[in-house]
Amino acid sequence: MKEHKQLISVEDASAIILEAAEDFGVEEVPFQESLGRILKEPIMADREMPPYNRVSMDGIAINTSIFESGNREYIIEGVQAAGSPQLSLADPEHCLEAMTGAMLPFGTDAVIPYELITIENNLAKVHIEDVQYFQNIHQQGLDRKKDEVLIQKNTKISPAEIGVLATVGKTSVKVAALPKVAIISTGDELVSVNQTPQPYQIRKSNVHSLISLLKTNCIQAESFHLQDNKAELKQKIKKYLETYDVLMFSGAVSKGKFDYLPEILDHLGVKKLFHKVRQRPGKPFWFGKKNNTTVFAFPGNPVSTYVSCLKYFLPWLTYSQSGRIDKKSFAILSTDFIFKPELTYFLQVKLKNEDGVVMAHPIVGNGSGDLANLTLNDAFLELPSNQSEFKKGSVFPVIQYRF
Ligand code: AMP
Ligand code: MG
Repeated sequence: MKEHKQLISVEDASAIILEAAEDFGVEEVPFQESLGRILKEPIMADREMPPYNRVSMDGIAINTSIFESGNREYIIEGVQAAGSPQLSLADPEHCLEAMTGAMLPFGTDAVIPYELITIENNLAKVHIEDVQYFQNIHQQGLDRKKDEVLIQKNTKISPAEIGVLATVGKTSVKVAALPKVAIISTGDELVSVNQTPQPYQIRKSNVHSLISLLKTNCIQAESFHLQDNKAELKQKIKKYLETYDVLMFSGAVSKGKFDYLPEILDHLGVKKLFHKVRQRPGKPFWFGKKNNTTVFAFPGNPVSTYVSCLKYFLPWLTYSQSGRIDKKSFAILSTDFIFKPELTYFLQVKLKNEDGVVMAHPIVGNGSGDLANLTLNDAFLELPSNQSEFKKGSVFPVIQYRF
């Protein structure tokens, strides 16, 4: 127990990681490729929104003062189609058919939908007694004025923002540049996915889950595998340190005979910012920096690697790009749970939205090596280290990987 007290807390580890944020600059990308990226310029309306009085129902456009004087029958002068220049109503006692998306014809100020009229021999008969000025018209400039900011700088671009970028004619957009990341797995027991492992071997999986996790955050990482061999580790890592902004390791940071990484990173001049965090899984996490290269060395057990990347790397990435801290999410523990060690425990949970409340149902699995268990869950519930009994109904932060 005492040993745990000497380890750095999850909170302190997170703070050190955010302090080690890096600015990767700005790049311009085609707007269709900006999904999920961090916007680095405010987006303004290039014209009013809508840019003209837009007909918002198919029907007839009339003049309300004529309607108020009692007229219920209108000769149809023509059709104002969407995508056509504005027509003018020649005689205020007449009407123009007008389609959704069209400019409101000059001389008209209300649209009566087809559902409320009948048309016979080019005469529209209106079957209602009340017409409001500007009804069924989306008024020019109502939504946004010209030059108004539509999207703030540092917004994460979602499909909603893509639509706005298209509307204002932003064919390319400034976004935060991404770090160049190398994912490096280590271990003599690991073989490629397309190989049949010997009885004493396993296929490497971490590198693939990490690549995928980064891909969902727009990063195309490169990956490497190194044997537990000091000379090879030294030589290769030296090169990676010169080439990449981030080195993300899995394995070789614990107490094993072949866990050479801490020693080698030290030898190569990477400054250790901490080693070992008061958490389970993922306790042997090593973090450091050399010049502008940030080194996340996660322990090799698949659940440790996975939760650590979610908990530490992704917030670092967001903060580096936007100066913002990801909003925390919370869920309610569905059952009493006991975890005695003085460690923050990342409990694997299945999330269920029950009547608008997010309940977290634990499916614990068999520890940090049990990667199949991750497929049964959606998230990790972060249980604080200073408690050992966690009551059903209590609220805790949740780190979600399935949405
Ligand atoms: P290590 O942190 O190197 O002591 O590894 C801890 C455990 O995780 C060992 O059982 C390794 O075989 C396993 N492991 C390490 N790296 C990977 C990987 N890339 N994919 C799957 N399992 C791994
Ligand atoms: Mg190993």
